[in-house]
Parts: sequence; structure tokens; C-alpha cells
Amino acid sequence: MTTHTVFVPEPIAPAGMEVLARHCKLIAPWQTGQPADAIPAEADAALVRIYRVDAERMEAAPNLRVIAKHGVGLDNIDIPAASARKIAVVWTPEANAEGVAQHAIALMLALANKIKEADAGVRAGRFDERMAFGSVEVSERTLGIIGLGRIGRRTAQKAGRGLGMHVLAYDPYADRSAYDGPATFVDTLDELLERTDFVTLHVPLTDETRHLIDAKRLAQMKPTSYLINTSRGAAVDEAALAEALHAGQLAGAAIDVFAQEPPDPSHPLQSAPNALLTPHVAGLSDRALVRVATEAAEGIVDVLQGRTPRSPVNPEILPLA
Ligand code: NAD
Repeated sequence: MTTHTVFVPEPIAPAGMEVLARHCKLIAPWQTGQPADAIPAEADAALVRIYRVDAERMEAAPNLRVIAKHGVGLDNIDIPAASARKIAVVWTPEANAEGVAQHAIALMLALANKIKEADAGVRAGRFDERMAFGSVEVSERTLGIIGLGRIGRRTAQKAGRGLGMHVLAYDPYADRSAYDGPATFVDTLDELLERTDFVTLHVPLTDETRHLIDAKRLAQMKPTSYLINTSRGAAVDEAALAEALHAGQLAGAAIDVFAQEPPDPSHPLQSAPNALLTPHVAGLSDRALVRVATEAAEGIVDVLQGRTPRSPVNPEILPLA
């Protein structure tokens, strides 16, 4: 029986490597400190995180039958080029949703309880500032969720059922009739922004969502409200957000994702007041890393062994010959 070869250009959790190693030969240059360049000509499959898989790289590997995305952001894989070459693309759409929802809630609570400022105050010997601290209780306040998909729904659940918040959702594409969670749909983004105390973004980055939150939208938010973004940096006009924070137009913002990563040291949010920044870690929880690596690896093994994978991105090309 022929052993398939899988190219793994970036580190993944050992659990995923073990799934692959049971069935395939692995080429993982990071294990020996080598840079990952082109896809090796003998590769039957590639499991990628942010490694770019474009048409040129597919051309270099004529046996390539499946590409697995470790995670959900598919922007580094040329899907039409893969489909044209009958290369299956699989992904792990549910695997890190729980971790991202938890991070969105963690950021919301950190803003509400001013955790960053409190820590800095203690370290700087300003213990007495506690009397004027004024954290914000989230219970009975309103969270607005933009994009009620896998992550948005989990976030709604935690906020509504766990924290006693009112939850509004704006998602023109969601099937409202099939939703039975705690969020109430609103018809317009205007309504969501005007009525909420916290706004959290859970949309994919598309032409429509690029700079969805711009200066005009920020001006619609209450000056006491907070913005949380764990989706994609470019969904927010970052310069406009920094200006709004400087102007006191909103109370604060927590940002996990940036239009350009890592952000430049001169990025406007670096010096904006009341901005809490994390380095695109929402999807990197302990269990998420194991689930994502394992599911991506299983998707590869399924396709190579002729089974239908759990989460195909281009199912129209399956089954493969
Ligand atoms: P999903 O596809 O399940 O949900 C996205 C939702 O957004 C869908 O319900 C869709 O209808 C809605 N939507 C699309 N366009 C919209 C618009 N213009 N206005 C309002 N709603 C709109 O995706 P998901 O799994 O919930 O992930 C959401 C995003 O989170 C991903 O696309 C990814 O960019 C981001 N993400 C970030 C991390 C991280 O580490 N920070 C990790 C995973 C995912």
C-alpha cells in the first residue's frame, strides 16, 4: 500500500501530528528548525495555519489532493484554484469557537472591571485609587452581537444565560426561525449600536464587513459603551476607533485582531486611552489547539482514504476519484 505524504509547514499540537503519523509520512520543516518554503513535490496533502497556498504552490505539488486549514480564516488558501485542480479543502469550523467566545466575554469583563487599570494602579503604588474606581456591572445591561454565527451564538449564550445580560443580535443572513437562544434580533445595525452597552463583533471579513465599524458607526454608540473585536482587524476602522477613544466618544475597546499583524509599534491603538489589546489569541485556548489540529488531521486522512470529510469547504468536488 502506498504511504501518503503530508506537508505540515507550521507547528501544530502533537495530537494532530499523531493522527497524521499513524497513516502518513510527514514533512514538517519546523521540527528541525528549517523554513517552510514551497510545498514539496511529493506531498499528497498539506495542513496549514497561515501558510499561503496559492495556485503557484499547488502547481509545485502535482499529487496534492487535500489541503486542511487549521482553524477558520480561509483567506490564505486560494479555494477556486484548489477546486479547479480537484484538490479538496477541509477546515475546522467549530473547533475554536468556544475559546473565541470565552475570550470575547473575558475582554468584556476586563473592560467592565477595569482589570488592566487596576493591575497597573497596584503596581504603581496607587492603591487608594480604588475609591474612585467605578467598575461597571454587566448584569441587566445590553450586549450587542454583530454576526450571530458559531462564535456569536456561544457568546450570546454565555452573556445571556451566564451573566444575566440582555442580548441583541444583528445578522441579516442568520436563519431567525431556527434560533432559540437568548439573543433578540434587530433589523438594523443602527438599532444595535444605539441600544447597547457593549458591542462584540463576530463577522467574517468580507467586502461588506471591511470597516463595518467606521467613524460614523462609532458615533452612533453611546459614550458609555465598549467595543470588542475578536473577528478580523479590518472589520473596524482602527484609526477611527483610536480617534473615538481619544475623544472620549466611547468608554473603551478591547481588540484581539488587527488589520496588519503584528501591528506596527506606531499603530494608533497602541497609544489610545482605554484600549485593551491582545495578540490574536482568542482561538488559541488549550482545548481549541488540540481540537483544531486533530480535526484538520482527520480531515486529511478521511480524504486520502476515500471517505467524506466532516467539514469540506468545497464539497462540490467530492468524492475524489
Ligand atoms: P460563522 O460563519 O459561523 O458566523 C459569522 C456570522 O456573521 C454568520 O452568521 C453570518 O451570517 C454573519 N454575517 C456575515 N456578514 C454579516 C454582516 N455584514 N453583518 C452582520 N452579520 C454578518 O463564523 P464564526 O465561526 O462565528 O467566526 C466568525 C469570525 O471570527 C471568523 O470569520 C474569523 O474571522 C473570526 N475568528 C477569530 C479568531 C481569533 O482567534 N480571534 C478565531 C476564530 C475565528
